[in-house]
Amino acid sequence: MNIILFGPPGSGKGTQADNLVKDFNLYKISTGDLLRKEIKNNTLLGKKIKSVINKGLLVSDDIINDLMEKVLSDKKINNRLIFDGYPRNINQAKQLDLLIKKYSQKISCALCLNVDKDTIIKRILGRQTCFNCGLIFNEYFKPATSKNHSCDPKFLNKRSDDNEKTVLHRFETYLEKTLPILNFYKELNLLHQINGMGKIHEIYKEIQGIKASLET
Ligand SMILES: [Zn+2]
Repeated sequence: MNIILFGPPGSGKGTQADNLVKDFNLYKISTGDLLRKEIKNNTLLGKKIKSVINKGLLVSDDIINDLMEKVLSDKKINNRLIFDGYPRNINQAKQLDLLIKKYSQKISCALCLNVDKDTIIKRILGRQTCFNCGLIFNEYFKPATSKNHSCDPKFLNKRSDDNEKTVLHRFETYLEKTLPILNFYKELNLLHQINGMGKIHEIYKEIQGIKASLET
């Protein structure tokens, strides 16, 4: 079973991917990890990637495709993949389709976690980390109180690199780039829209239900 997972930054996509990896012995495939691995192992492809990045250029779809071909041709992880943050554009989706066919695999489903703009902003901007004990809170959804946190509130730290404008920009870029890809999978009858506004375990239950319905 190969699964593609879509969702804007802050949708909880990474958490759900990790759940699936843990419970069903899947392999999470993210292009960032693959790129870093090639560079670290100093492969031919890694050298090519490094020179592109050093020039300040974006890694091309062709390079991403080469990375994915390595993954899909690897029999050890055959049909046990969960794609997180890939494909990122319609060209990559079409290339993935060709690779999937070439290596006699299939995409079982494309799951899309939908979360509205206001919730994303609150989830990201409300996030607080305690730099004393490492616990994570959210001032909107899970505020630190004297009951759930024993450190002094002065240790609670908000992420400083995010402001509303950058969060909104990331969200809108995601929608704009992802919509054509979602339509692509919709036409292939593979798309499942999931309400990502609920509790993590409820959403995961829904994902497991979809997964179970596909295992026939
Ligand atoms: Zn603490």
